[in-house]
Amino acid sequence: MRKLKIQRILHRLNDALEEVEEDGKPIKRDVNIFRLVRLIKPEMGMISLAALSLLASTASQTTAPLFFGMVVDAAQTSMARLNRTVLILLLIYIAGAIAGLFRATLFTLAGQRMVARLRKELFNSIIQQEIAFFDQNRTGELTNRLASDTQVIQNAVTVNISMLARYIMQIIGSLVFMFVLNASLTGVLLAVVPIISLGAVQYGKFVRRIRQKFQDRLADASSTAEENISNIRTVKSFVAENKALTLYSESVDKSYLEGKRLAIAEGSFTGTIGIIVAAAISLVLWYGGKLVFEKDITAGVLTSFLLYTLNVAFAFGLLSSVYGDFMQAVGASIRIFELLDKTPAISNQGGMKLDNLQGGLEFDRVQFTYPSRPDNQVLKNVSFHVERGQMVALVGPSGGGKSTIVNLIERFYDPDSGSIKLGSTNLKLLDPSWFRKQMSAVSQEPTLFACSIRDNISYGKEADFNEVQEAAKQANAHDFIMSFEEKYDTLVGERGVRLSGGQKQRVAIARALLINPDILLLDEATSALDAESEHLVQEAIDRAMNNRTVLVIAHRLSTVRNANKVIVISKGQLAEEGTHDELIARNGVYKKLVLRQLTAGETNIKED
Ligand code: ADP
Repeated sequence: MRKLKIQRILHRLNDALEEVEEDGKPIKRDVNIFRLVRLIKPEMGMISLAALSLLASTASQTTAPLFFGMVVDAAQTSMARLNRTVLILLLIYIAGAIAGLFRATLFTLAGQRMVARLRKELFNSIIQQEIAFFDQNRTGELTNRLASDTQVIQNAVTVNISMLARYIMQIIGSLVFMFVLNASLTGVLLAVVPIISLGAVQYGKFVRRIRQKFQDRLADASSTAEENISNIRTVKSFVAENKALTLYSESVDKSYLEGKRLAIAEGSFTGTIGIIVAAAISLVLWYGGKLVFEKDITAGVLTSFLLYTLNVAFAFGLLSSVYGDFMQAVGASIRIFELLDKTPAISNQGGMKLDNLQGGLEFDRVQFTYPSRPDNQVLKNVSFHVERGQMVALVGPSGGGKSTIVNLIERFYDPDSGSIKLGSTNLKLLDPSWFRKQMSAVSQEPTLFACSIRDNISYGKEADFNEVQEAAKQANAHDFIMSFEEKYDTLVGERGVRLSGGQKQRVAIARALLINPDILLLDEATSALDAESEHLVQEAIDRAMNNRTVLVIAHRLSTVRNANKVIVISKGQLAEEGTHDELIARNGVYKKLVLRQLTAGETNIKED
């Protein structure tokens, strides 16, 4: 029986250590712990009930050993007394169990509610951030914060805090009972328990460090897996399955090595602490046995005492691990509060909404460097004008800065200096949400969502089915959609994988047209489509350009020929500006670009 109890303590100690620093992130203490606790405020009613249950279950746990000892003594006196005492003990246990049930359920429920709320707030904060933020933070890291950091916090503010309270009450309660039962025996015990606990804490720290390394290696392995699985098409087309497997195997092996160290460290911890606990128990047992022998205390008192000893040792051991968990949550909360408090550099709301869009787009001496690559100035003093209702083509060598210009117009980023204006109003003064609704962008590789074609088309604006169909017809998408069995309800798959390139583009054009934008930002596809698709896509694009201000990153000769103006961007600078004919006549960069590209086919302009 005693041996079993010791084993149970060891197991719990071990389990508790396993919970320490799950994600292996370093722990910082300088945090507003109160803010962490405040997260649970809306659940205060539930938490109060849970706290009452906690009090009741701890009371049961702390009084039970006393009656345990009384049962031992009663067994030596009379049956009637034995029956009575066992019954009381049973009632104490049952009451404790019922209270424990309420405690566990209510704390967990409150935690679930809190974490659901926290995740929504955090997700909102993430998607409000400016694009530069996403250049600098990996998707995996952000989703990890949503999924696991919030979980750690949930445990901290419910389970950990309640456990902390429970163990502290358990230790104090048990010590009081022990002193009342026998002060000198308590003295012996108090000399031993802190030594064991201190040892456990120190060793716990050591194990934690190994665990942290183990977690880091595990994280490396999962990102390798994630990268290869999400790029599975590239992996397959380069027949790189074995390469992927080797890479993944290497990272798994590294994590295994740390895992091995962890297993040995934890195993020897369990063994060592086992011996120390056994020695301590034997000491108390010997001294207590001596007191019984000398008739200073009864056998029942010694039994109670031993159970209290276990109670205290157990609570001490778990206290340190709960503390570790709590500190881990504090670390997670730093990352979460940082994100919750982060105000986006370009917020989505706020600013002017113009009654009518007058004037075109104006770039005035724009300089720009991506915040994620501060040493690479991308736009250098770029100035140009796009008249309202005109079509302007951007051409130039790849990497010159054309897409960056489009990004700046969408206000994904702000220029470092110079200004971009709509009419006479600086874009920075406009409400970004309002302004973005005035335009649509169609990129080379349109992103669709894993929902139906209909929902994809009406993604930017609530629309009835007629409007959706009309947009699809305009975009030359209606016919192919109707040829599908489920028509507009066809699911397109993740990122639209179930559609062909040309089909995806036409759905994206329909999505853009449904908004009926004043400004259209286009990136003509360079990727080869079959002739039929190419024709249909081109026709859709031509139609889409009608009666709009259009800025197009042009790849086709017909587009540049039809453009009101061609702007040549090279190495972040405006190299030339004029109509196609004017620029050809000028016999400069553009002409060379067109000639070389038309002959070598290595350009961003190709012949129809
Ligand atoms: P183009 O559209 O003319 O091919 P881009 O505007 O895409 O050129 O790129 C211009 C330069 O900006 C390139 O040097 C490119 O590496 C860099 N760049 C593009 N996007 C980013 C980004 N999100 N973060 C950092 N640098 C970028």
